[in-house]
Amino acid sequence: MSLTQHGAHLFRSTRFGFFNSYLLRDEGGLTLIDTNVPGSAPAILKAVAQLGLPVKRIVLTHAHGDHVGSLDALRAALPGAEVSISARDARILAGDHSLDAGESQRKLKGDLKVTQTRPDRLLQDGDRVGSLRAVATPGHTPGHFAFLDERDGTLIAGDAFQTAAGTAVAGQMRLLFPFPALATWDAQTAMQSAARLAELKAQRLAVGHGAVLEAPVQAMRAAVAQAQRHVTPLT
Ligand SMILES: [Zn+2]
Repeated sequence: MSLTQHGAHLFRSTRFGFFNSYLLRDEGGLTLIDTNVPGSAPAILKAVAQLGLPVKRIVLTHAHGDHVGSLDALRAALPGAEVSISARDARILAGDHSLDAGESQRKLKGDLKVTQTRPDRLLQDGDRVGSLRAVATPGHTPGHFAFLDERDGTLIAGDAFQTAAGTAVAGQMRLLFPFPALATWDAQTAMQSAARLAELKAQRLAVGHGAVLEAPVQAMRAAVAQAQRHVTPLT
């Protein structure tokens, strides 16, 4: 596992070179964003110990196994941390894969994980979690959320964007979208969400898979434009 700092408050913890979770220094301690693949709790707890602050909150971008895989283990290790996820994806964590009237009727995709942990808090668009503003970004999953740190414009976008193709090196890094495409529930909805994120004027983009990108707005807009050319509209 590696731990890298980005800006004043954000730390990225990466496993197997490809799976990110984030620790954010915020009110009263740390906010953990995403819990990574199963078996990641010891590595994340080591990173927490390195930072020397208590974990106050665990925030989940969406209910895929590479983001909630270590939730139960971390909940057990950090009983004082408040666990939040969107109301919509909380249903997936509980094993409910039904779709709502009014949303795309495509089947959910990806590793849909059922957890023992029941979230303490169900997020709606615009909610605050510490310094983070919750931004509903459906598409990768129906209840996917991104989080904007309003102190410095750091955008933690989960899998609404990605910045690496697994083996990208710094000079060749470019935004691909949507990604991982095979795990995306509804590409058209995901594209609209990405377009919304591109207009938030983020100063820094932190994603589930890939490097943290500084001054990302142009690259985000370009990725959306590229996706708009490739995504087949729903009929
Ligand atoms: Zn992912």
